[in-house]
Amino acid sequence: MGRAIGVWAAEHIAVGVVHDGRLTGPLRTYPEDPRDASVLQSMPSEEIAELISQQIAAIAEGESAAAVGIGFPGIVIDGVVEESPNLPQVKGYRLAETVAAALSGLGRKAPVLAINDAEAIAAGIASTRGYLDRLVRVWTLGDGIGFGRYPRAEGVWEGGHSVVSLDPKERYCGCGGHGHLEGIMGSRAMRLRFLDLEPDEIFGQAKTGESRCTEFVHFWHRALAAASATSIHMDGAGKFFVGGPNARFLDVALLNQYVGEMVKMSPLQGYVFEVFHSSDEIGVIGAAVSAEQELGEFDEQESLRTETRRAGRTSPQPGPRGG
Ligand SMILES: [Zn+2]
Repeated sequence: MGRAIGVWAAEHIAVGVVHDGRLTGPLRTYPEDPRDASVLQSMPSEEIAELISQQIAAIAEGESAAAVGIGFPGIVIDGVVEESPNLPQVKGYRLAETVAAALSGLGRKAPVLAINDAEAIAAGIASTRGYLDRLVRVWTLGDGIGFGRYPRAEGVWEGGHSVVSLDPKERYCGCGGHGHLEGIMGSRAMRLRFLDLEPDEIFGQAKTGESRCTEFVHFWHRALAAASATSIHMDGAGKFFVGGPNARFLDVALLNQYVGEMVKMSPLQGYVFEVFHSSDEIGVIGAAVSAEQELGEFDEQESLRTETRRAGRTSPQPGPRGG
């Protein structure tokens, strides 16, 4: 593998140069103090793309990059942010194309891939753990619930909005949908449900045996078990990594107990849950590795596709590519 640039743009922006699946130096972050989180929230979409491009140009230091990968929150299809619940201003924004054009303007022509942030995490884990040959799934637990899958497959994969309850009163999800995983596990949803308690207090009081909190903590684990069980029934057994700020509340033994009640077929028993520590590095590496894999493949097949089109046959469009 060659030299690629990875961008992690969730809450703040982190950029790194990745060679052979490893960072070649320290990350560049914006803002420099990571405590100034959610800087993207109030930023117009044009500024986000401009800022990302400037960070890429600054870290590239005049050298070329084979590809640029961007991990971004929301539904990202063919380089377009179709929906990003926490960043409404970017809905419909052509992120990959705009960053590629901005880079070109800065004299740094490179193909750009934009993917969902949890997908970037899944690729980052696969790359750093040596799991590039197998299925890796990731849950990220925060205000929203992210789901990432490596290898990336076509589709929407909004696993955080899996329906895990048929109770019509379950309507705390930020997207407005009823019975969603995020409506039970997300921080925002937990605050709406309890009103008087923060997530930390809910899990703290459950430890002391407070009945409402204890009941909810079991429900919280059953919800993740249900969504994971559905994924196992659709996509097979394998490894699930659970990260994000609220992964600290996870009791893996309790989760396994509930998944065990939900998954009974013997070929599906080889599932494993592991808590991982989320970091900008994993997202940056995953975005870069994904871009290299998908845009590198494009280069090899480009001439073939061109010939196919010339012959008058339609061929599926490859991923986004700027430059
Ligand atoms: Zn939802």
